[in-house]
Amino acid sequence: MAFIDKARISVRAGSGGNGAVSFHREKYVAAGGPDGGDGGRGGSIILQVDDNLSTLMDFRYKRKYTAGTGMDGQGKRKFGKNGQDLVIKVPRGTLVRDAETNEIIQDMSSSEPYVLCRGGRGGWGNSHFATPTRQVPRFAKAGLPGESHDVILELKLLADVGLIGFPNVGKSTLLSVVSKAQPKIANYHFTTLFPNLGVVWVDDGVSFVMADIPGIIEGASEGAGLGHDFLRHIDRCRLLVHLVDVSGSEGRDPVADFDAINAELQQYSPALAQRPQIVAANKTDILENPENLERLRAHVEALGFPLLELSAAAHQGTRELVQQIAQRLPALPPVRVFEPEYVPKPPAPGDAASLDIQHEDGVWLVEGAWLQRLMANVNFSDYESRMWFDKVLRDAGVFKRLEELGIADGDTLSLDGYEFEYQT
Ligand code: GDP
Ligand code: MG
Repeated sequence: MAFIDKARISVRAGSGGNGAVSFHREKYVAAGGPDGGDGGRGGSIILQVDDNLSTLMDFRYKRKYTAGTGMDGQGKRKFGKNGQDLVIKVPRGTLVRDAETNEIIQDMSSSEPYVLCRGGRGGWGNSHFATPTRQVPRFAKAGLPGESHDVILELKLLADVGLIGFPNVGKSTLLSVVSKAQPKIANYHFTTLFPNLGVVWVDDGVSFVMADIPGIIEGASEGAGLGHDFLRHIDRCRLLVHLVDVSGSEGRDPVADFDAINAELQQYSPALAQRPQIVAANKTDILENPENLERLRAHVEALGFPLLELSAAAHQGTRELVQQIAQRLPALPPVRVFEPEYVPKPPAPGDAASLDIQHEDGVWLVEGAWLQRLMANVNFSDYESRMWFDKVLRDAGVFKRLEELGIADGDTLSLDGYEFEYQT
């Protein structure tokens, strides 16, 4: 089973319920007034962080998400029930991107819920449309569709410290020793298919989050292997702990390993390669050739990195490593949170044919989703804005269609609930 850290989903908020056309009926009351209630609002799509999740796996099996529809209004001014919101749970650190432009819509790093798509407004019942000259409105408004969006979810874990190093150097072992995380530990490569996060408690009130990501392998930054996809999980880490196996037990050269991993980082992201590193020379309990350790020490110290001796398995040096990390962190910049980039496009006018037009008592009711979005962008107290609106409607063929249907000079034109006098 592969680790899923990217998924594309389609979400749709619920549409609003329709307004009701109804008239008050009562014994001995001849002509009751209109009493049609409003439709309920459609449910919204809400994203929420759930710390029990660490992958986007669920989104592989379910890709379409729809919130509840608002119920229709009823007589006696009864409102339709609102549609149910749909809360989609995501792991902390999930980036939500627009599928078309790849722009970031929201970084789900905090515990604040985020409304990704709003439910459609419920339509007004006919009780709203009674005026002194229009006492028997036989129309109501339809509910509007909810917003919808195709988005890409991308997991970029939030951790203070990222463990890097070749497979089998002891990263998972270290995490399991210093935190309560229970990553899989085994003596073969690529055991870690899922990133693991662990909270490391240092002292009273001092803790940090450490991430064990799958081993980087050579050529990973060119997409040659497993590593490439996983590098983005350490993108946000404030500090890297670079584990190197100095035991020589696998016939590896620690200096070459150290350089190879750093070359991978550099190729993936120069910024990441600049991130502060603490080098931990692991498996010192089975050190075959002490010269290995000293060569590595000389090499990394010449490059300006501190080096610590460690035996994760024997719990030697782990306390010192944790202390050093805790000392470094307060001076480092906080975990990066991405700013939203995505700006919803100004609504593209649809065509006149997609509008719902009703003619009642000399009133022309025009509505439709694109019209509503368009009108949200018009400032009716501004001449320029009104002229723009007029032009968009004309270009979309709205006036032409109304004239074909027989609209006359002086008729009332109700555009999405706003009334105008029609002038040819
Ligand atoms: P990872 O692939 O980097 O996560 O490595 P693991 O933590 O899964 O460890 C790989 C193997 O090395 C396992 O068999 C561990 O028991 C062993 N190992 C890890 N740390 C040490 C250590 O400090 N000393 C010794 N002798 N073995 C270790
Ligand atoms: Mg591992």
